[in-house]
Amino acid sequence: MGKVLIIGAGGVGAVVAFKCAMLPEVFEEIMLASRTKSKCDKIAAAIGNNRIKTAQVDADNVEETVALINSFKPDLLINVALPYQDLTLMEACLRTQTNYLDTANYEPRDVAKFEYSWQWAYKKRFEDAGILAVLGCGFDPGVTGVYTAYAAKHYFDEIHYLDIVDCNAGDHGKAFATNFNPEINIREITQKGRYYQDGQWVETQPMEIHKSVEYPNIGKRESYLLYHEELESLTKNYPTIKRARFWMTFGEKYLNVLNVLQEIGMTSIKPILYEGKEIVPLQFLKAVLPEPSSLGVGYKGQTSIGCQIKGIKDGNERTYYVWNNCDHAEVYKECGAQAVSYTTGVPAMIGAMMVLTKQWTGVGVKNVEEFNPDPFMEKLNQYGLPWNEQIDKILPIEQ
Ligand code: NDP
Repeated sequence: MGKVLIIGAGGVGAVVAFKCAMLPEVFEEIMLASRTKSKCDKIAAAIGNNRIKTAQVDADNVEETVALINSFKPDLLINVALPYQDLTLMEACLRTQTNYLDTANYEPRDVAKFEYSWQWAYKKRFEDAGILAVLGCGFDPGVTGVYTAYAAKHYFDEIHYLDIVDCNAGDHGKAFATNFNPEINIREITQKGRYYQDGQWVETQPMEIHKSVEYPNIGKRESYLLYHEELESLTKNYPTIKRARFWMTFGEKYLNVLNVLQEIGMTSIKPILYEGKEIVPLQFLKAVLPEPSSLGVGYKGQTSIGCQIKGIKDGNERTYYVWNNCDHAEVYKECGAQAVSYTTGVPAMIGAMMVLTKQWTGVGVKNVEEFNPDPFMEKLNQYGLPWNEQIDKILPIEQ
């Protein structure tokens, strides 16, 4: 049905390649390309599927990426490198008229700033070129947007309150590690918090607001209010929303280590001079932390991510909670990954499938909630991320 070029051979890229390789009727040809080709070769060998071609590419370099696209001619480019590469990859897609999909919004390297403006600015150019960019198609952002679209379509006339709750109750046995790219992860969680209330953004100190939330099959976990990019697109696409918040759990030990790292300056993104050479402390820290793709062995426990929604249906108040629990050890058994890479990589594969099978169509730059959620929700159940729902019960975030 089509050809995909996957860029990025980290924890998430490995899952996307694995899942695409299982579906030859949709993904007829696959190329996995990244900065370090040996990592692509290792993933292709582990999958053991000789339909996966590999290549070296510096995705910061538009010309190089254009040359690679021209040599392989994919129908869709799946960007699971880093958010820094979003704009160069979108540029390369424009020059080659290739559809684009990613899982995280663009961030400039020198300032940790999360907003869609840079990518939304490409809308007209993608429309004029007759191609489609699907933004934020991991779990959060990604499935959380699809869950919200599904709730809006089937259960609500108006959504008023949205709480996205993200719990990782797993234990990887390491002293300190991040579940996705350490640099991107630490930039995200050391930022000020932000939530949407009555048409405005309310800023908080990092980790200032927290509460204990009950997660299905897991129990109560301390959950911290963070800013997360899907709040921006969801409040824009669902203007009836009065309040939208994002919560993520962190263990006490993780937060203690993170505090120390922050206090001694190791999480800073300002370059310093070290032995006559400029280095960025956070990039140096990344180099000494475990790679996310290496955490799967012996990882125990589950993740639970969902949307807790309150609003109105036929004039009555309604609540809705939709979520997925994913087990680290089960995922490792299936494909050698951990659940955070898996819960990001599976939706990226499903999004790619939606585009190639023309269930998600159109041109321009779109966030996932702008498409029909139904076929995507069906595929989540089929490809490893089954969801559960609860209607008109007290929401755990309110208990
Ligand atoms: P990793 O650090 O494990 O992998 C990133 C990969 O990108 C590496 O293979 C790296 O190459 C490659 N890369 C980096 N820079 C370049 C470049 N200039 N050119 C080509 N390749 C490059 O990260 P993850 O797999 O954990 O995360 C991947 C993406 O998924 C990130 O953008 C992250 O933000 C996003 N994500 C989204 C989530 C969601 O739910 N929406 C959740 C988790 C992650 P090398 O190995 O050489 O360094």
